[in-house]
Amino acid sequence: MKIKNKTFEIFISEKDIKAKTKELSEEIKDFYLDKKPIFFIILDGSFVFGADLFQKCKIKNSEVEFMKIKSYEGMNSTEELKIILKSDKEIQNRHIIIVEDIIDSGLTIDGVIKIFKKEKVKSIEVVSLLYKPDNYKYNHNIKWYGFSIPNDFVVGYGLDYDGFGRELNEIYKLK
Ligand code: 5GP
Ligand code: MG
Repeated sequence: MKIKNKTFEIFISEKDIKAKTKELSEEIKDFYLDKKPIFFIILDGSFVFGADLFQKCKIKNSEVEFMKIKSYEGMNSTEELKIILKSDKEIQNRHIIIVEDIIDSGLTIDGVIKIFKKEKVKSIEVVSLLYKPDNYKYNHNIKWYGFSIPNDFVVGYGLDYDGFGRELNEIYKLK
């Protein structure tokens, strides 16, 4: 499969993604029960996983919000984190679930956690579909993740290569 000048091969099937999302949603639902959490979906990459997970969790009185963060240019993580869209939701005393597509160096999640820590929220947990432990440089606990993967560049199911490939039902890795 080609996107622009790069060739990708299948890495995680749609079936495996769906099964894992279901599994995560059951754990998250049991964890929050009647705590009315707010899911914060980190755009752009997490919009597909976030929607899927939020819908599968079906936690009573849970809400969803969005935050847009940029740290990647093409295939490289830039050191600088840009907040492009910030929610104006009142979040004091609320339970926050940060929803990420992938945790790589951890720079993005570190920045996002710092933002929430300033807001006197009741709790902050992280759920990420993918996690690259070999590259992770921070100590925040990633409470839930779908798949632990090597340092390959991946696309699909919301993740892009230079803006393309987000519509793919499966996850592909660089060949
Ligand atoms: P970190 O800040 O942890 O280094 O990187 C996190 C962000 O970088 C993710 O939210 C995602 O947008 C992007 N990213 C990291 N690794 C990959 C990858 O393999 N593929 C794609 N498409 N994006 C990635
Ligand atoms: Mg992301």
